[in-house]
Amino acid sequence: MATSHQRPAAEPSSDFFRKLASGIPDILFVYWLSADTQMHSYPYVSDQVRDLLDIDPDALVRDAISILPYIHPDDIEGSRLAVLESARTLKPWQWRARLKLRDNGFEWFETHARPERQPDGSTIWYGQFFNIQNYMDLQQELMGREAESSFQAGFQKLVADLSAEFINLGFDSIDECVDDLLERAGEFFSMDRVYLYAFSEEHTSMTKTHQWCRTGVPAMVEVDETVCLDAYEELRRPLMDLIEHNQVEVIESMPDRPADVLSDSEPVQGVTSVFCVPVRVRGDVVGFVGFETLNSKPQRDDLDHLLFIVTSLLSVALERHLLEETLFNQSIRDPMTGLLNRRYLMPRIQELVERAERYGEDFTLAMLDIDHFKQINDSVGHLGGDYTLRRFADILLKLTRASDVVARFGGEEFMLVFPDTGVEVVHQMVSRILRNVRNTEFVFEGREIPVTISAGIASALETDDQKATVDSVVALADKRLYLAKQAGRDCAVAASGELQI
Ligand code: GH3
Ligand code: MG
Ligand code: MG
Repeated sequence: MATSHQRPAAEPSSDFFRKLASGIPDILFVYWLSADTQMHSYPYVSDQVRDLLDIDPDALVRDAISILPYIHPDDIEGSRLAVLESARTLKPWQWRARLKLRDNGFEWFETHARPERQPDGSTIWYGQFFNIQNYMDLQQELMGREAESSFQAGFQKLVADLSAEFINLGFDSIDECVDDLLERAGEFFSMDRVYLYAFSEEHTSMTKTHQWCRTGVPAMVEVDETVCLDAYEELRRPLMDLIEHNQVEVIESMPDRPADVLSDSEPVQGVTSVFCVPVRVRGDVVGFVGFETLNSKPQRDDLDHLLFIVTSLLSVALERHLLEETLFNQSIRDPMTGLLNRRYLMPRIQELVERAERYGEDFTLAMLDIDHFKQINDSVGHLGGDYTLRRFADILLKLTRASDVVARFGGEEFMLVFPDTGVEVVHQMVSRILRNVRNTEFVFEGREIPVTISAGIASALETDDQKATVDSVVALADKRLYLAKQAGRDCAVAASGELQI
């Protein structure tokens, strides 16, 4: 008895395959490439090629060339090479390319097809194009997330490293730390130039104090150069905003010279944008860090915020450095005259004594004492005495060199130390000082004060038979100062005796 539940024919018809193919969302195809690889076609493409790409399957049956306009231009050459490779090796043709959809947008497809060599040397592939856009989107998103988290980790490390460096900052190394910060931030944010500008007190000019340039990128303005802000109209406004509001300013193009000096023949440098980030010390904007890129690249929306964080580290370090410098200065200076004090002086003499012993380098001391200072205090009062001390200190600074040590030894006694200087030169300098003081008018509250100085001079290498010590050289100078007082004051005594002044 015949049954109505008959199975379909065992031998599938082409209609059967068409129906099967229509149930698959992707594009099934048979692709043929001639033996000389000069001709190709798609003997069969499922109807989805019409629905998805809007290509007539019959056109592809005639010539595969009609698919070309639908492949993303950047992917054509790769697809071609992949086919040829598959034809050569008879390994599956597997390739990813973007195809243009009906709605004109490109989406990623993957090709997977198995080749079979034909008796005439041509090759036929059986396979499919399937849409992998969702997969690519996901991958892109994952990569983006990965890149973001690695960026965040990198940023945290940058901040941590720089903080550690600034915390351990040695007294002399602030410049190196600033240079290092500029370089590391420049590298991290893919900048081409990063520099620090310090404003003048009145914010009328600014001086470049530090700079980092990527290898191969020339500096536009050298370190130590000062530019007058009035000459840069396009800079003045944003920089005033930066100072006033302590905020990041983005300047689209940083001129390297004032606009009126720019000649037509000189090409303007290709700076695309400069992030100017304020540097603040004790609440005032004292300068800014400029972050420059030469090529426009996509930048993070939060870039200004991140640059602000990095630059704040610099602000904190500079503030601390200034504080330390002030404290250090206070600890080695006499507050009334501003001269160096004994705390600084004695170790310095010790150092010079050691150099004298080790290398035979001579140095000379002069001990100076104001004559009859008690009388000065008695006649014009203590404040008049203080005034005399300060005026005298000014004269000492004026008549000595930067390398000489000028110190207040105590009361109205002063010590001058001349490193690497022999007695002859010191005689002349001390004589000049004594003469200058004698001829200077000291006037306090309308009353003239007669001021003279006595001095004793001693050199480290003066005596060959005994080893110089700090005490022995100072004592010798002191003894000669006493001799000068005995000789009638307003004179100097050295090894050769009383000097004619
Ligand atoms: P001589 O010519 O022998 O050096 O006589 P002198 O009066 O200068 O010497 P003396 O050492 O007897 O007196 C120094 C005076 O300096 C005593 C002290 O009151 C005064 N003096 C010390 N330090 C200061 C100071 O900081 N300010 C003032 N106004 N006077 C000071
Ligand atoms: Mg005195
Ligand atoms: Mg004295």
